[in-house]
Amino acid sequence: MDQPRFVIEASEAESMAKQSNLTVLQLLPSLVKPAQDLARPPISKFHVGAVGYGSSGRIFIGVNLEFPGLPLHYSVHAEQFLVTNLSIQSESKLQYIAVSAAPCGHCRQFIQEIRGAQDIQILITSVESGDDNSGINSFDPLLHLLPHRFGPEDLLGQDVPLLLEQLENGLSFLSETENLTDDFKLNAELKAAALEAANKSHAPYSGCPSGVAILDSDGKMYKGSYMESAAYNPSMGPAQAAVVAYIVGGGGGYEKIVGAVLVEKDGAVVKQEHTARLLFQAISPKVDFRVFHCGSGSNGV
Ligand SMILES: [Zn+2]
Repeated sequence: MDQPRFVIEASEAESMAKQSNLTVLQLLPSLVKPAQDLARPPISKFHVGAVGYGSSGRIFIGVNLEFPGLPLHYSVHAEQFLVTNLSIQSESKLQYIAVSAAPCGHCRQFIQEIRGAQDIQILITSVESGDDNSGINSFDPLLHLLPHRFGPEDLLGQDVPLLLEQLENGLSFLSETENLTDDFKLNAELKAAALEAANKSHAPYSGCPSGVAILDSDGKMYKGSYMESAAYNPSMGPAQAAVVAYIVGGGGGYEKIVGAVLVEKDGAVVKQEHTARLLFQAISPKVDFRVFHCGSGSNGV
């Protein structure tokens, strides 16, 4: 069986469209159904698939994730997964989204973290009327789905980098040897990956960036960055972002996750440690979960 794919390179997207006699934009809705099959919603059984088109010409897939044993707000929505996927692949602009169900308010809000969010074109495959020809589907700007928005510009200056924009938080470890033990395979690399993720974290509201790196039983690493929302609650935790990276990177069942490292600021007002630990305990109880602290500036101060 082919490994599920969450990123389609530009050249392949072009040739897929050509084969079907479609433009790449017309191809997007046809990819929604296969995307839905990749969702992991054991609680609702409601599969959501979101297919995004970025400025590089690549196509990105997002699906919803639900975690039994945890409160519902730990869930990852398909559009959040999609934006996280773009962030992991360093895609700077999201231009079009085709999605299986109307984006919920939480997702309409979360997407506001992207500069120019109002202009992102959205197509909802389940509400299109008319005949069955996918060619009649039409994209509508997010502005029409969320007028009178509350967004980053209500809290931040114009020149603060937004989600998907180049970020370097300038964090470093407080102590290179902190909690370093031999029993944790790849400990140093995992720590470095988690710090890298924390340095790309979008946390302009709290000033508390963080990142998580995951190790699976094959020795593969995956990393995810914390991403804040101006409306706070739709923020995406670093552990969830790392789980998205795990799935995008071809990770299978969660039970294969054996290690996880969280890097966050010492004394952070917004702390991820406890909720991240709960998530890993719920999805893969044997995970060796470690936390390392960092600070801003070259000396980690
Ligand atoms: Zn949603």
